[in-house]
Amino acid sequence: MQRDLIADAAVTLEGTLAQLQGPQTVDVLKVQQAIIRAAHDFMFKKGLVQLMPLMLSPITDPLNHGVVDAAISYAGSRWSLTKSMIFHKQLTLLNPELEAIYIVSPNVRLEFADRAYTGRHMFEFTQIDFEFRNKDGAFVRSFMEELVQFIFSKVEEELPEVLAKYRPDFLPEIGQLEVFRTEELEAQYGADYEHIKSKEAERPFWLLNHKREFYDKEDPAAPGTYLNYDLIWNEGFGEGLSGGERENEYHQILKRMDETGSDKEAFRHYLEVAKEQGLPYTAGAGFGVERMARYICRIPDINNVTPFSRRPGMPALF
Ligand code: AMP
Ligand code: MG
Repeated sequence: MQRDLIADAAVTLEGTLAQLQGPQTVDVLKVQQAIIRAAHDFMFKKGLVQLMPLMLSPITDPLNHGVVDAAISYAGSRWSLTKSMIFHKQLTLLNPELEAIYIVSPNVRLEFADRAYTGRHMFEFTQIDFEFRNKDGAFVRSFMEELVQFIFSKVEEELPEVLAKYRPDFLPEIGQLEVFRTEELEAQYGADYEHIKSKEAERPFWLLNHKREFYDKEDPAAPGTYLNYDLIWNEGFGEGLSGGERENEYHQILKRMDETGSDKEAFRHYLEVAKEQGLPYTAGAGFGVERMARYICRIPDINNVTPFSRRPGMPALF
């Protein structure tokens, strides 16, 4: 299908400056700062070691949807702009001294223009990404529940005047979130299940089993289902985090690469590590900072979460 690359809306200097100088922008920046400070604090207390982000790599996340390719040539190689740090997380955990890591990572995903007005997509954003060795999805989900509760408490404590404007009814208690499976919700609500359930839920919830990238582990006990999970914000804000247990066995990675049509040549060194040395068994997740700030401040359009517009398929002046 031919995808439209240019979204249809005018970009003016006046509009750009209004966004840059608006009071809401400052509120959201403070919320994002509180999210990141609280996340660092939590990760440090839990013993996760921080990895610095990389913006260029010979391999990056293939994603489960198309984006415009973003790559440059340098030093005789082709380097992709980072779409996520998934493979670097796995590889970093080859170090036997490390049990768990996290990254505050800029991601560049040149989304097609059909995502310009979803309210959830920018063409670059920041992800807080974490990964544990020898832990499963249930562990990662309860870690995330604790992390979200910690962040929300900090935002309430540190920014009461901001919350009073956007969420006078306070943020939800997180505790243990309800868990659903994609196939169950799809049977109940049809193809638009995620959106419908996100709108009607009173608290965020987990959604298990998505068929997507080759690195998400297939359930050995139920082939054709996957040990991955998304955190879905309620009030219709949709997906806030994706994670999973990872494929780490060579033959299973090859099988999943065949199924997803992945480029094995581009991943040859990664595959060599998986074959010769073995990848560690890991599980983790990543959540978008802008999406969390959008949820906290109840901002319909994520492009208003940033002073600098990054709307898919549209130019920006700065
Ligand atoms: P993914 O692993 O692709 O699901 O990305 C991890 C998280 O990053 C998502 O759950 C979102 O919170 C966030 N995210 C992904 N794509 C975008 C985007 N285009 N704009 C803003 N945030 C995004
Ligand atoms: Mg996702």
